Amino acid sequence: MAETFDVIVIGTGAAGMTAALRAADLGLHVLIVEKAHKYGGTSATSGGVAWIANHGLGGTTDTREEALTYLDAVIQGPVNRERLEAYVDTGRDMLSFMGKLGINFIPMPWPDYFAELPGSRTDRSLVLPMWDGRKLGDKFPLVREQFPRFKLFNRYAMNLVETFTIAARAKGWKRMLAGVISRYWTDQATRRITKRDRWFTSGNAVIGPLLEQLTTKNVEIRLETKLEELIVTDGKVTGARVSRFGTAYDISARHGVVICAGGFEWNQQLRDRFYPVKTSIWWTSTPQDANTGDALLAAEAIGATTEHTEEGWWAPTMILPSASASNFEEVHQAVFDVGRPSSVCVNRNGDRFVNESCSYDRFGVGMVADQQKTGANLPCWLVFDAVFRAKFTAGGILPTAIMSDKSIPVDWWDHYIFKSDNIVSLAKKLQLDPAKLTDVVMRMNDYAAKGEDPEFGRGSTIYDQAFGDPTCKPNPALGPIIKPPFYAIPIHLGDLGTKGGLKADAKARVLDGNNQPIPGLFAAGNAAGSPFGLNYPGAGGTIGPAMVFAYIAANEIAARASNQPRT
Ligand SMILES: Cc1cc2nc3c(=O)[nH]c(=O)nc-3n(C[C@H](O)[C@H](O)[C@H](O)COP(=O)(O)OP(=O)(O)OC[C@H]3O[C@@H](n4cnc5c(N)ncnc54)[C@H](O)[C@@H]3O)c2cc1C
Repeated sequence: MAETFDVIVIGTGAAGMTAALRAADLGLHVLIVEKAHKYGGTSATSGGVAWIANHGLGGTTDTREEALTYLDAVIQGPVNRERLEAYVDTGRDMLSFMGKLGINFIPMPWPDYFAELPGSRTDRSLVLPMWDGRKLGDKFPLVREQFPRFKLFNRYAMNLVETFTIAARAKGWKRMLAGVISRYWTDQATRRITKRDRWFTSGNAVIGPLLEQLTTKNVEIRLETKLEELIVTDGKVTGARVSRFGTAYDISARHGVVICAGGFEWNQQLRDRFYPVKTSIWWTSTPQDANTGDALLAAEAIGATTEHTEEGWWAPTMILPSASASNFEEVHQAVFDVGRPSSVCVNRNGDRFVNESCSYDRFGVGMVADQQKTGANLPCWLVFDAVFRAKFTAGGILPTAIMSDKSIPVDWWDHYIFKSDNIVSLAKKLQLDPAKLTDVVMRMNDYAAKGEDPEFGRGSTIYDQAFGDPTCKPNPALGPIIKPPFYAIPIHLGDLGTKGGLKADAKARVLDGNNQPIPGLFAAGNAAGSPFGLNYPGAGGTIGPAMVFAYIAANEIAARASNQPRT
């Protein structure tokens, strides 16, 4: 083989960059290969929130015991206990390692997604502050841009506080909006060279500083270089066959290959093989065509096994034509929209099926269960009134002050968005039983008046209420659906990634069909099965464990290489 490294890392998401950074810090010679022409994977496009229980930051009183109490209450179904405990025990070390490099996560107030369960807290979701992307020099434009909705008008960078305040038009939103726009236009130095905002927020704020550190440590990253096959010698993974523009070559790895190639969101065959209901690649909000499960298939080919592959990290989405080319459609998240007051979600039989203000992953679990039961979900309908329409986003449909009904293109009506003066005629447009939809709406109006939803408990937890409307009384998640016109949009079973992947143990080692580690092969992030099984405990529940197990993989490789003592 022409080239040899100590470690080859596959993928430049949060998992891949963390694994590479830690391995390089421990003295290993690392190469990262990245299939895309940009750095950062889905992680760069994400909200950048990392859920790390027992993190020890910001004066938290969270403990190992409290974290495990919560996780034990949340987790339904089998998980590897040792792996779960490794996550709870190692998060702080990983954060302290990052802190020493100047990458300092901070807790933000965000209720855990099962706020009603013992051990839940509101300080386990961590974010990184805004970061100046131009510190990356030539690499600045090569970081994958954020999901469009996380930038104002797909142009102005916003941190999460700004995103939520402006989206909900909460107190002070106008001043914040002016600040966001002025921050962009007063940056003349950047405006002269690019439309892109220099300020990296959310997922970009995670990838930017990681990439900077990798550059400082001279870690080589090859873009447009795809893992094709794993090379095995005497039962041990000793390298990778990669390809660039169709030309394949081999690289050898002395101590290990770490698969951090994300999930299989963009592989329809793998979706059909693993998911219990029919889904579509076109519903995901992850970057198009990046994560196609290549590494999962390459590892399966050498005997690796998988787990928790029957679900995605669900996040309801809706679809609209692209603003720049109407022949193309694009996905918009409706993650918090489905639970805002003065709305209700029904399946295509006209029945409610879930507490709409629960977390997005639970909402998706509800969609899947209802689809399995009725065959009339996927898509379901978000039905709302003029009060909702004026205040909130409905996927890519922005509040009326920004996107009036008149400004909505004619061809969107009765296709992407439906409208009628009354519920009966709206129901007819949606091919729903008018009497049934009227009954659902009347019941919701009754619940809104009382502030209680006896059917599904909508608005009953602090999580449900956190993304409601504080001016909506008595319950911020329950508002009447009474002001015409009435609207509806179809909601798809979107996702933020896939939950399952290669079965890995507490040391991030990939296991074979006999539950034995495959020597030299490690996995982290969505390439591996989630340590939480099919459960999503809180905001950041994918990036948190991705970074922790990437860090664990690097420690394990370094310990085996006897290069540095494990800390
Ligand atoms: C809009 C949005 C918001 C989100 N917000 C959050 C959030 O705030 N918190 C949270 O926890 N999660 C969030 N998620 C989910 C989260 O982004 C992903 O679960 C997480 O980033 C996965 O990280 P990863 O490192 O495993 O994979 P990725 O970040 O997807 O990285 C995988 C990389 O591997 C590369 N790759 C794939 N195949 C190959 C191959 N064969 N060879 C070489 N390279 C390959 C890909 O191109 C990609 O760059 C969000 C997702 C979306 C879409």
